[in-house]
Amino acid sequence: MQIMITGATGQLGGLILENLLQKMPAGQIIAGVRNPGKTSELHQLGLETRIVDYDAPETLDKAFAGVTKLLLISSSNSDDQVRLAQHLRVIDAAQRAGVDHILYTSFAFSQKGNSDNVHSLTEQAVQDSGLRYTFLRNALYIDFVNVLDLKEAIRSGVLTTLPGNWRFNAVSRSDLALATAAILTQSGQENQSYELTASQTWTFDDLAGALAGLAGKPVIHREDPEMQHWFYNFLSTIDTVSTTTDLERWMGRKVTPLKESILPFIGPQQTQTF
Ligand code: NAP
Repeated sequence: MQIMITGATGQLGGLILENLLQKMPAGQIIAGVRNPGKTSELHQLGLETRIVDYDAPETLDKAFAGVTKLLLISSSNSDDQVRLAQHLRVIDAAQRAGVDHILYTSFAFSQKGNSDNVHSLTEQAVQDSGLRYTFLRNALYIDFVNVLDLKEAIRSGVLTTLPGNWRFNAVSRSDLALATAAILTQSGQENQSYELTASQTWTFDDLAGALAGLAGKPVIHREDPEMQHWFYNFLSTIDTVSTTTDLERWMGRKVTPLKESILPFIGPQQTQTF
């Protein structure tokens, strides 16, 4: 069996590879990379790399030859029309190459709202292709807390947010990667969909509590109707409230606690961006 992970140089792809390497020989894993200049770390792990550029169909035909399971990590392009076209190219090439089973990193509960979002349309295209599939519908990454300026909240003792009944099923990439590696290596996952969310939602009050615990000083949550950030508009277009236990079931443990998963966003080396 040959498993290929596209977007292998990305944050989620890298974490999935780390987990996969603990479950199967490196010789059965192929890392799909867009940029040939980013392969050295992957080679050091003993992995074969192949060029996979969603914009270049000729790379896809070559890359997918002999692949049994293909994990398509959704494109990071900022334009959803472009993303969809890229995903369609990958699905077409997977069909041409005779890939046995395609897995796609979709978005949690994206089927519930407007069905013409990029993830629902990609899922539809996969189903129309007749390929065996598994949809890994990932929750919002916890990294979105970056937009809330947690360091300033700790400094001032006040976490300020826009009023609203906000609740979040968001989780860390590490948790998603652990579950994804488990699903990739378990047989019998054809034509299944999993909603990989936290099993319980958390609120901005909970976040202020977690910050207070980490800082060892009071941090309160205050709502400010004047607060402005484009991200609140985005949040109102997605389902951050619905939950399942799919993620915990596949991880074989509880999701990482909020206090622990926000640590990378309050430390001095705050490098990740949403
Ligand atoms: P990331 O760190 O930005 O990695 C994206 C990966 O996709 C990189 O390896 C990148 O290659 C590759 N890629 C981008 N365009 C490509 C193309 N045209 N052809 C082939 N590969 C291409 O993102 P991530 O954190 O791993 O997240 C994975 C995906 O989840 C994102 O791409 C996005 O679709 C989605 N996402 C989900 C959430 C959420 O909250 N659930 C949030 C943000 C993003 P290079 O290294 O060459 O750039």
